[in-house]
Amino acid sequence: MARGEFKVSVTKDHIVFASAHFITFPGHRCETLHGHNYRTRVAVEGGLDPETAYVIDFAELKQLMKRLVDEIDHRVLLPLQNAKLQIKEAGDFVTVAYEGAPRYMFPKRDCALLPIPNTTVEMLAQYLCGRARAELLRAAGEGNALDITTIEVEVEENFGQSATYRESLK
Ligand SMILES: [Zn+2]
Repeated sequence: MARGEFKVSVTKDHIVFASAHFITFPGHRCETLHGHNYRTRVAVEGGLDPETAYVIDFAELKQLMKRLVDEIDHRVLLPLQNAKLQIKEAGDFVTVAYEGAPRYMFPKRDCALLPIPNTTVEMLAQYLCGRARAELLRAAGEGNALDITTIEVEVEENFGQSATYRESLK
């Protein structure tokens, strides 16, 4: 039998996050704080589990993505690797300066401090994909017979405007 691969994907009304952000542009331009109702889609490619004849249990994939989006839902998304932003934790607060000028102060519990250079949908997709990959590999390490070759995450910030990041696991 020819060796093919399957692709399964999940996009659901509850795998979303409503978060605030702003991005920095080239030069001295920086957006003001605003929010999006972000939607996500995750797709996994691979071979079938011989026992169950599925690539991955949909329930497992949905629960995994739900956990990851819940971590950043209803928060201010802040990119720790942005050279123009100075993001500092001070007690229960996070202060944000842009090119040295103080701009915002948020309660720490309302922030998601992310290891990315800008909170573009590209970087959010890459971040979520990396997290999903780590979780899937951890599950595989715990005796889960997964044969996953590729994982792909799409993040949409408003209708028809999205980025997809795709990563090979092998
Ligand atoms: Zn935006």
